Amino acid sequence: MSVQPLDAVATTPPIAEEARRDVPEFVLSGDRRMWIGGEWVAAASGRTLPNTDPVTEHPLATVPRGDAADVDAAVRAAKKAFTDPSWAEMTPDRRGRILNQIADVIERHAEELATIDSVNMGAPRLITRTMLAEAGEVFRYYAGWPTKLFGTQVPTRGDRLAYTRKEPLGVVGVIWGWNGPMGQLPGKLAPALAAGNTVVLKPAETASLSTLRLAELLASTDLPDGVVNVVTGRGDEAGQALVAHPDVAKIAFTGSTTTGKHVQKTATETLKQVTLELGGKSPSVVFADADLERAARGVAAGFLGNAGQACVSTTRIFVQESVRDEFVELLKQAMTTVFTPADSLSSGTVVGPLSTRAQFDRVSSYLELAVEEGANVVTGGTRYGDRGYFIAPTLLDDVTPDMRVVREEIFGPVGALMTFTDVDDAIAKANDTEYGLAASIWTTDLTTAHRMAAAVQAGTVWVNTWGEMSTGNLPFGGYKQSGLGREGGLEVLDAYTQSKAVVVAL
Ligand code: NDP
Repeated sequence: MSVQPLDAVATTPPIAEEARRDVPEFVLSGDRRMWIGGEWVAAASGRTLPNTDPVTEHPLATVPRGDAADVDAAVRAAKKAFTDPSWAEMTPDRRGRILNQIADVIERHAEELATIDSVNMGAPRLITRTMLAEAGEVFRYYAGWPTKLFGTQVPTRGDRLAYTRKEPLGVVGVIWGWNGPMGQLPGKLAPALAAGNTVVLKPAETASLSTLRLAELLASTDLPDGVVNVVTGRGDEAGQALVAHPDVAKIAFTGSTTTGKHVQKTATETLKQVTLELGGKSPSVVFADADLERAARGVAAGFLGNAGQACVSTTRIFVQESVRDEFVELLKQAMTTVFTPADSLSSGTVVGPLSTRAQFDRVSSYLELAVEEGANVVTGGTRYGDRGYFIAPTLLDDVTPDMRVVREEIFGPVGALMTFTDVDDAIAKANDTEYGLAASIWTTDLTTAHRMAAAVQAGTVWVNTWGEMSTGNLPFGGYKQSGLGREGGLEVLDAYTQSKAVVVAL
């Protein structure tokens, strides 16, 4: 089958005029400022970065293009706040109350923040609303922890008292992706604050506006000035300077595996602690005994949700041979009904545009590569419409494990379908990747489910579902090249604290 050229015009999703009347001016126009030491400032260089609405291709508000000078100012403010009695000596219950205040303002402004992200980076409101609901829950979860970060009294000789103290690290740098600004930030910011650290945030350059609005909301809480600072700017300027800064004790990072490795190398120079949440090429595995209709909808959501711009996208689809043809029909049906691309602000939209022109071009080049490599395009494979960065939901088959479209993270609405014979074959194929972030298993057989859950090398395994994230209390992270360390739960607090041993001669 031949593919249509990438500039082919399918239906252009209509603009949701009604919903767009309520878009906050904050995202639409003007020059936003960064938040450093409790002050709203432009970049020291005076430079700005543009933003573009990926649905309409209209320009949006600009953000400062901060660089090393701005990062240095933010780190100095955070360092000062770290030792300021108003934060360093704050009682744990008071710190917990402030985390609850943050949850309150997020909940009160959830709709506004969700809309800002949807307009700025194109994720459907269905998704940004979910992220905001979870964001509030994450802050509430960590609000309970400051009062429970115990050290221990350690048995030793009788004339000595030995104990440990759980202490914060100092200034924490947070860098994260454009694909879920308000989804990825809380799992880093909330535990960092709960443990008593101060923070410098560097959001992705194309999706910073919700973080700047959140900073305005944080300023309305009892959080002392300088405890949270925001520097917007490019990754290779502001991001690089934050990772290299000698007064930053830890970097919490979400992004691509390539950048993650670079971050770790840079951080080694100053022996910073690093946690990395990186990319994936996760499998969906559908057994013949599964509820195939339900599986088809779940598998489609797994690689099309947020237009495939999710680190946990399950883009390698393995179906048991005996049900392949039946499953492909059901999958095509799901793809062309629920998952038709539409304006991110329309109610019910599951697949919006790609986030930026650069991301659109990147995914388009993978579609061309798929054909060059000999894949068959079952459906999709083209641009969708003639306005906005939409790509038609795309299913490939006749693929082989060595193809780049099977091995590399495309980060777009593109799935590659393959078959397997039995459980052992499914395990081998699911694990044939350098990544290990997530997996989704579809079966009604308990033994198969648990064998797969144990054998698949991934930080999260879903059985008969996909994409369900915890609101704080489950660990999240990657095996293999999908990351380092975990977010969520009690475990993550170890990544934001250090233990001190104290020995007292009695
Ligand atoms: P990057 O890894 O480049 O970006 C992630 C974050 O790191 C951004 O805030 C970025 O800033 C910042 N950054 C970039 N370079 C540096 C640096 N040298 N030092 C410190 N920070 C830096 O990912 P991209 O946004 O370029 O996306 C490319 C691919 O990465 C995607 O197509 C996808 O495959 C993957 N990705 C995965 C994510 C996930 O959730 N696992 C999230 C985002 C991307 P800036 O954006 O300003 O450059």
